[in-house]
Amino acid sequence: MNIVLLGAPGAGKGTQAQKLTAEFGFAHISTGDLLRGAIAAGSPLGLEAKGYMDAGQLVPDELVLSLLKERLGADDVGRGFILDGYPRNTAQAVTLDAVLRDMGKSLDAALLVAVDPAVIVDRLSRRRACRECGFTGVDSMHACPRCGGEMYQRDDDKPATIEARLDTYATKTAPLIEYFKGQDKLAEVDGQGDPDEVYVHVKEVLGL
Ligand code: AMP
Repeated sequence: MNIVLLGAPGAGKGTQAQKLTAEFGFAHISTGDLLRGAIAAGSPLGLEAKGYMDAGQLVPDELVLSLLKERLGADDVGRGFILDGYPRNTAQAVTLDAVLRDMGKSLDAALLVAVDPAVIVDRLSRRRACRECGFTGVDSMHACPRCGGEMYQRDDDKPATIEARLDTYATKTAPLIEYFKGQDKLAEVDGQGDPDEVYVHVKEVLGL
Protein backbone atom coordinates (compact mmCIF):
# COMPACT_ATOMS: atom_id res chain seq x y z
CA MET A 1 0.00 0.00 0.00
CA ASN A 2 1.31 3.47 -0.92
CA ILE A 3 0.17 6.22 1.43
CA VAL A 4 0.67 9.96 1.82
CA LEU A 5 0.30 11.43 5.31
CA LEU A 6 -1.22 14.88 5.69
CA GLY A 7 -1.53 17.00 8.81
CA ALA A 8 0.05 19.97 10.57
CA PRO A 9 3.53 19.65 12.07
CA GLY A 10 3.10 17.84 15.38
CA ALA A 11 -0.18 16.14 14.39
CA GLY A 12 1.44 12.75 14.94
CA LYS A 13 2.19 11.77 11.33
CA GLY A 14 5.64 10.45 12.20
CA THR A 15 4.34 8.41 15.14
CA GLN A 16 1.58 6.81 13.05
CA ALA A 17 4.07 6.16 10.22
CA GLN A 18 6.41 4.41 12.66
CA LYS A 19 3.56 2.15 13.81
CA LEU A 20 2.48 1.28 10.25
CA THR A 21 6.09 0.57 9.33
CA ALA A 22 6.61 -1.70 12.33
CA GLU A 23 3.42 -3.70 11.69
CA PHE A 24 3.29 -3.87 7.88
CA GLY A 25 6.90 -3.37 6.76
CA PHE A 26 6.13 -0.32 4.61
CA ALA A 27 9.06 2.00 3.90
CA HIS A 28 8.75 5.18 6.01
CA ILE A 29 9.91 8.07 3.87
CA SER A 30 10.14 11.33 5.80
CA THR A 31 11.44 14.20 3.69
CA GLY A 32 12.21 16.09 6.93
CA ASP A 33 14.45 13.18 8.04
CA LEU A 34 16.09 13.06 4.60
CA LEU A 35 16.80 16.80 4.83
CA ARG A 36 18.13 16.54 8.40
CA GLY A 37 20.35 13.66 7.21
CA ALA A 38 21.73 15.88 4.43
CA ILE A 39 22.42 18.64 6.97
CA ALA A 40 24.16 16.21 9.35
CA ALA A 41 26.27 14.93 6.44
CA GLY A 42 27.28 18.51 5.63
CA SER A 43 26.26 18.17 1.97
CA PRO A 44 25.77 21.32 -0.16
CA LEU A 45 22.08 20.44 -0.44
CA GLY A 46 21.83 20.20 3.35
CA LEU A 47 23.54 23.54 3.81
CA GLU A 48 21.15 25.19 1.40
CA ALA A 49 18.10 23.57 3.01
CA LYS A 50 19.01 24.50 6.60
CA GLY A 51 18.23 28.22 6.30
CA TYR A 52 14.71 27.51 5.06
CA MET A 53 14.08 24.89 7.73
CA ASP A 54 15.30 27.11 10.56
CA ALA A 55 12.96 29.84 9.30
CA GLY A 56 9.97 27.46 9.26
CA GLN A 57 9.69 27.77 5.48
CA LEU A 58 9.49 25.12 2.79
CA VAL A 59 12.76 24.04 1.20
CA PRO A 60 12.70 24.65 -2.60
CA ASP A 61 10.82 21.89 -4.42
CA GLU A 62 13.75 20.76 -6.60
CA LEU A 63 16.03 20.12 -3.59
CA VAL A 64 13.46 17.96 -1.84
CA LEU A 65 12.57 16.17 -5.06
CA SER A 66 16.14 15.04 -5.69
CA LEU A 67 16.31 13.45 -2.20
CA LEU A 68 12.87 11.90 -2.62
CA LYS A 69 13.60 10.36 -6.01
CA GLU A 70 16.79 8.76 -4.69
CA ARG A 71 14.90 7.33 -1.70
CA LEU A 72 12.03 6.02 -3.86
CA GLY A 73 14.61 4.03 -5.82
CA ALA A 74 15.54 1.91 -2.76
CA ASP A 75 14.58 -1.77 -2.61
CA ASP A 76 12.32 -1.55 0.47
CA VAL A 77 9.83 0.67 -1.39
CA GLY A 78 8.48 -2.35 -3.26
CA ARG A 79 6.51 -3.48 -0.18
CA GLY A 80 4.68 -0.15 -0.12
CA PHE A 81 5.60 3.21 1.37
CA ILE A 82 4.38 5.93 3.65
CA LEU A 83 5.29 9.44 2.61
CA ASP A 84 5.56 11.62 5.70
CA GLY A 85 6.04 15.30 4.91
CA TYR A 86 5.69 15.10 1.13
CA PRO A 87 3.89 16.60 -0.74
CA ARG A 88 3.84 19.95 1.09
CA ASN A 89 2.26 22.05 -1.67
CA THR A 90 0.17 21.51 -4.79
CA ALA A 91 3.16 21.60 -7.18
CA GLN A 92 4.79 18.74 -5.21
CA ALA A 93 1.55 16.75 -5.35
CA VAL A 94 1.42 17.08 -9.13
CA THR A 95 5.12 16.13 -9.39
CA LEU A 96 4.58 13.13 -7.15
CA ASP A 97 1.80 11.81 -9.38
CA ALA A 98 4.16 12.05 -12.38
CA VAL A 99 7.14 10.47 -10.57
CA LEU A 100 5.04 7.54 -9.37
CA ARG A 101 3.47 7.08 -12.79
CA ASP A 102 6.99 6.80 -14.29
CA MET A 103 7.77 4.11 -11.71
CA GLY A 104 4.56 2.22 -12.52
CA LYS A 105 3.18 3.04 -9.07
CA SER A 106 0.31 5.12 -7.70
CA LEU A 107 -1.02 6.34 -4.38
CA ASP A 108 -3.71 4.32 -2.62
CA ALA A 109 -4.67 6.92 -0.02
CA ALA A 110 -3.90 10.29 1.53
CA LEU A 111 -4.42 10.05 5.27
CA LEU A 112 -5.17 13.28 7.12
CA VAL A 113 -4.25 13.25 10.82
CA ALA A 114 -6.38 16.12 12.12
CA VAL A 115 -5.46 17.93 15.35
CA ASP A 116 -6.59 21.21 16.95
CA PRO A 117 -3.90 23.94 16.49
CA ALA A 118 -3.80 24.66 20.26
CA VAL A 119 -2.76 21.05 20.91
CA ILE A 120 -0.10 21.28 18.20
CA VAL A 121 1.89 24.10 19.84
CA ASP A 122 2.06 22.20 23.13
CA ARG A 123 3.08 18.96 21.42
CA LEU A 124 5.79 20.54 19.29
CA SER A 125 7.44 22.31 22.20
CA ARG A 126 7.58 19.00 24.14
CA ARG A 127 8.71 16.91 21.18
CA ARG A 128 12.18 15.35 21.12
CA ALA A 129 13.81 13.35 18.31
CA CYS A 130 16.57 10.76 18.23
CA ARG A 131 19.81 12.00 16.66
CA GLU A 132 20.62 8.49 15.41
CA CYS A 133 17.40 7.00 14.02
CA GLY A 134 14.89 9.88 13.91
CA PHE A 135 12.51 8.24 16.44
CA THR A 136 9.97 10.77 17.75
CA GLY A 137 9.42 11.01 21.51
CA VAL A 138 8.73 13.51 24.29
CA ASP A 139 10.84 15.66 26.62
CA SER A 140 10.90 13.06 29.43
CA MET A 141 12.97 10.70 27.20
CA HIS A 142 16.72 11.23 27.38
CA ALA A 143 17.74 8.09 25.48
CA CYS A 144 15.93 6.74 22.41
CA PRO A 145 13.72 3.75 23.35
CA ARG A 146 14.38 2.25 19.90
CA CYS A 147 18.16 2.52 19.47
CA GLY A 148 19.55 4.16 22.64
CA GLY A 149 20.64 7.30 20.72
CA GLU A 150 20.56 10.80 22.16
CA MET A 151 17.17 12.56 22.16
CA TYR A 152 17.32 16.26 21.26
CA GLN A 153 15.02 19.16 20.50
CA ARG A 154 14.96 20.01 16.80
CA ASP A 155 15.91 23.64 16.10
CA ASP A 156 12.60 24.13 14.32
CA ASP A 157 10.60 22.85 17.32
CA LYS A 158 11.71 25.90 19.31
CA PRO A 159 8.94 28.47 19.94
CA ALA A 160 10.22 31.10 17.49
CA THR A 161 9.88 28.73 14.53
CA ILE A 162 6.71 26.87 15.49
CA GLU A 163 4.41 29.75 14.52
CA ALA A 164 6.06 30.14 11.11
CA ARG A 165 5.74 26.40 10.44
CA LEU A 166 2.04 26.41 11.32
CA ASP A 167 1.52 29.39 9.04
CA THR A 168 3.37 27.61 6.20
CA TYR A 169 1.15 24.58 6.75
CA ALA A 170 -2.06 26.62 6.64
CA THR A 171 -1.18 28.53 3.47
CA LYS A 172 0.81 25.96 1.44
CA THR A 173 -0.01 22.45 2.63
CA ALA A 174 -3.63 22.48 3.89
CA PRO A 175 -4.98 23.08 0.33
CA LEU A 176 -3.81 19.52 -0.45
CA ILE A 177 -6.74 18.23 1.57
CA GLU A 178 -9.06 19.42 -1.22
CA TYR A 179 -6.61 18.15 -3.87
CA PHE A 180 -6.75 14.58 -2.56
CA LYS A 181 -10.49 14.81 -1.89
CA GLY A 182 -10.84 15.62 -5.60
CA GLN A 183 -8.92 12.42 -6.40
CA ASP A 184 -11.22 10.49 -4.05
CA LYS A 185 -8.18 9.41 -1.99
CA LEU A 186 -8.70 11.30 1.24
CA ALA A 187 -9.09 9.35 4.50
CA GLU A 188 -9.24 11.18 7.83
CA VAL A 189 -8.63 10.37 11.49
CA ASP A 190 -8.90 12.48 14.63
CA GLY A 191 -5.25 12.72 15.77
CA GLN A 192 -6.05 13.84 19.33
CA GLY A 193 -5.79 11.33 22.15
CA ASP A 194 -3.63 8.34 22.77
CA PRO A 195 -1.39 7.38 19.78
CA ASP A 196 -2.36 3.70 20.09
CA GLU A 197 -6.06 4.59 19.88
CA VAL A 198 -5.42 6.88 16.93
CA TYR A 199 -3.59 3.97 15.29
CA VAL A 200 -6.65 1.71 15.61
CA HIS A 201 -8.65 4.31 13.64
CA VAL A 202 -5.82 4.72 11.12
CA LYS A 203 -6.00 1.02 10.28
CA GLU A 204 -9.81 1.17 10.09
CA VAL A 205 -9.92 4.05 7.62
CA LEU A 206 -7.14 2.53 5.50
CA GLY A 207 -8.87 -0.85 5.47
CA LEU A 208 -5.83 -2.58 7.02
P1 AMP B 1 9.19 17.80 9.04
O1 AMP B 1 10.21 16.94 9.69
O2 AMP B 1 8.33 17.06 8.05
O3 AMP B 1 8.39 18.63 10.02
O4 AMP B 1 10.00 18.87 8.14
C1 AMP B 1 10.89 19.79 8.73
C2 AMP B 1 11.19 20.91 7.75
O5 AMP B 1 11.82 20.36 6.58
C3 AMP B 1 9.97 21.65 7.21
O6 AMP B 1 9.55 22.69 8.08
C4 AMP B 1 10.52 22.18 5.88
O7 AMP B 1 11.37 23.30 6.08
C5 AMP B 1 11.38 21.03 5.41
N1 AMP B 1 10.62 20.07 4.58
C6 AMP B 1 10.29 18.78 4.88
N2 AMP B 1 9.60 18.22 3.87
C7 AMP B 1 9.50 19.16 2.90
C8 AMP B 1 8.90 19.21 1.62
N3 AMP B 1 8.22 18.16 1.13
N4 AMP B 1 9.01 20.36 0.90
C9 AMP B 1 9.67 21.44 1.37
N5 AMP B 1 10.25 21.48 2.58
C10 AMP B 1 10.17 20.35 3.35
